[in-house]
Amino acid sequence: MTLSQQEIPKGGSFLLQETEPISVFTPEDFTEDQKLIAQTAKDFMEREVLPKVEQIESQDWGITLGLIRKAGELGLLSIDIPEQYGGLGLDKTSSVLVSENMARVGSFAVTHGGHTGIGTLPIVYFGTDEQKKKFLPKFATGEWISSYSLTEPDSGSDALSIKTKAALSPDGKTYLLNGSKSFLTNAGIADVYITFAKIDGEKMTGFIIEKKFPGIQLGKEEKKMGIKGSSTRTMILENVPVPVENVLGEIGKGHKIAFNILNMGRFKLGAGVIGGAKSVITDSIQYAKQRKQFQKAISEFGMIKEKLGEMGIQAFAGESMVYRTAGLIDQMSGLMGLGKPESSLRSLEEYAVECSIVKVAATEILSFVVDQAVQIFGGYGFMEEYPVARPYRDSRINRIFEGTNEINRLLMVGMLLKRGMEGKIPLMQAAQKAADEMTSGTFSEESSDLLAHETQLLQNFKKLLLFSASLAFQKYGTQLEEEEELIERLSSMLIEIYAAESLLLRVKRGMAKWGHKEPLYTALVQSFFNDSVFRMEALGKQISAAVSEGDMLRISLSALRKWLKHNPINTIPLKRKIADALIEAGGYSL
Ligand SMILES: Cc1cc2nc3c(=O)[nH]c(=O)nc-3n(C[C@H](O)[C@H](O)[C@H](O)COP(=O)(O)OP(=O)(O)OC[C@H]3O[C@@H](n4cnc5c(N)ncnc54)[C@H](O)[C@@H]3O)c2cc1C
Repeated sequence: MTLSQQEIPKGGSFLLQETEPISVFTPEDFTEDQKLIAQTAKDFMEREVLPKVEQIESQDWGITLGLIRKAGELGLLSIDIPEQYGGLGLDKTSSVLVSENMARVGSFAVTHGGHTGIGTLPIVYFGTDEQKKKFLPKFATGEWISSYSLTEPDSGSDALSIKTKAALSPDGKTYLLNGSKSFLTNAGIADVYITFAKIDGEKMTGFIIEKKFPGIQLGKEEKKMGIKGSSTRTMILENVPVPVENVLGEIGKGHKIAFNILNMGRFKLGAGVIGGAKSVITDSIQYAKQRKQFQKAISEFGMIKEKLGEMGIQAFAGESMVYRTAGLIDQMSGLMGLGKPESSLRSLEEYAVECSIVKVAATEILSFVVDQAVQIFGGYGFMEEYPVARPYRDSRINRIFEGTNEINRLLMVGMLLKRGMEGKIPLMQAAQKAADEMTSGTFSEESSDLLAHETQLLQNFKKLLLFSASLAFQKYGTQLEEEEELIERLSSMLIEIYAAESLLLRVKRGMAKWGHKEPLYTALVQSFFNDSVFRMEALGKQISAAVSEGDMLRISLSALRKWLKHNPINTIPLKRKIADALIEAGGYSL
């Protein structure tokens, strides 16, 4: 459905309103063009990249560069680059579909993502016309590879504390950069380093450093736990002369570039890791079908089925969140009537809360999936020749880069509260309404619609979060940001709600198309919500106990019981049903 600008939900407003299934974008809505680009990426991975995994992992950079250039020939480096600079200028859904399909080899996905995302987008969004003309066509083909260097030895999560300095030369033609940068993805194969430094030690500014500039020293390849086939090195800058034409964006506004790019980077990462999770699920199903113990395929054992069922449910929830968010970003940027880079940048800013949610949720789903996969493979899961040891190691970094999950949890709650305080979304009014409903004891009745119980639970989850947040705010006021343990729990509720809602809306929307598969998807929703209730209950109780006592604690626990009223269901047959469908299909097929 096409929405008008007024109808498009504001970022973070999913928490405050009921969303109609018709208004969300789902994987069932992909256009033919989007399917085509996804298929191109999938075929490229299967035909070109997978056969060369060993060489990639052993850091044969010639092979990696050759593959990146082949990806360039297929258009897989240029989705986000505008057409006038040699790109395809496609939507964000296409962009994340490519990320998803690149994820089967973690190292290659990181090389590709480092180049096309955090390496290329700073120039797409903030470069001058000359900079775009000079760099983007070469980035689109892979002739030049880009990397992004924000992190420093003493400045990781606290990115604004960087110490690298830039000083204008007396003739006003160059900035001299001095400092050291850590963990640059693609450093060893890059021709360009998007770098941040403080002019006169104060004004954080973006710079485009070219490999040919004197004074750049790269450290040795880092010895990493995973993604061993992606280049990660340090960079020392000693009086590196950067021409003023290579200043990126406005002087003193480097933080805007850094944060906006990380926002997009983390969203693309979320999509990528869901692709990784789906591929590991497929490997696990295939192994479980052929591995026999006690004269049976292990896929016939209840505990293995339950793992497969839950892996499928989690990946489906992650996928639903990713494409719902991609749809929001595309719809908003399509309506803004601006040139593509500006509009997609503004849409990404609008949905920054959702981008952080997707990053944390998806990376945690992948961690769960790879852990279960190793267990399904048993001892063979621990062996490098089998397909899950590498994804298990590779997956771990995803919870650390593009903003650690702790930082993203702080961000999502902080940004939501800020949007509420600035009046961008009616957060305070919604919190007041939830509190009134709790004290008056009037609770909405369920309707008899499809999945009505889950629909009602979802509304109650939202009230519970709003109420819990307002209790926490009453106790700590603006000092709430110091109470990180509470913010972490609030962020867990927020993620749970976005996941539950995205999954529910997708299923309601898909029912008409799925026909005979309807019971499978009903099972998926019921199972997810049943487990959600327990998770929300635990979080709600912990927050209530931390911020209230006496009568107030009793009142809030009684509200919690009413809002989470739910007769536990037997999820064993539901998860078996999902596992059986996956086993029959021989791979992730939801
Ligand atoms: C393989 C790899 C590739 C990378 N690629 C790049 C790249 O291309 N470009 C680039 O610029 N950087 C890159 N990084 C750096 C990465 O983004 C940082 O490692 C990350 O931001 C965390 O910074 P840090 O390692 O200094 O950890 P720290 O910031 O020191 O964090 C340590 C721990 O403390 C927690 N923590 C920190 N602050 C808070 C807080 N306020 N509240 C609660 N917990 C907190 C963190 O979540 C983490 O658990 C890469 C890192 C790796 C390992």
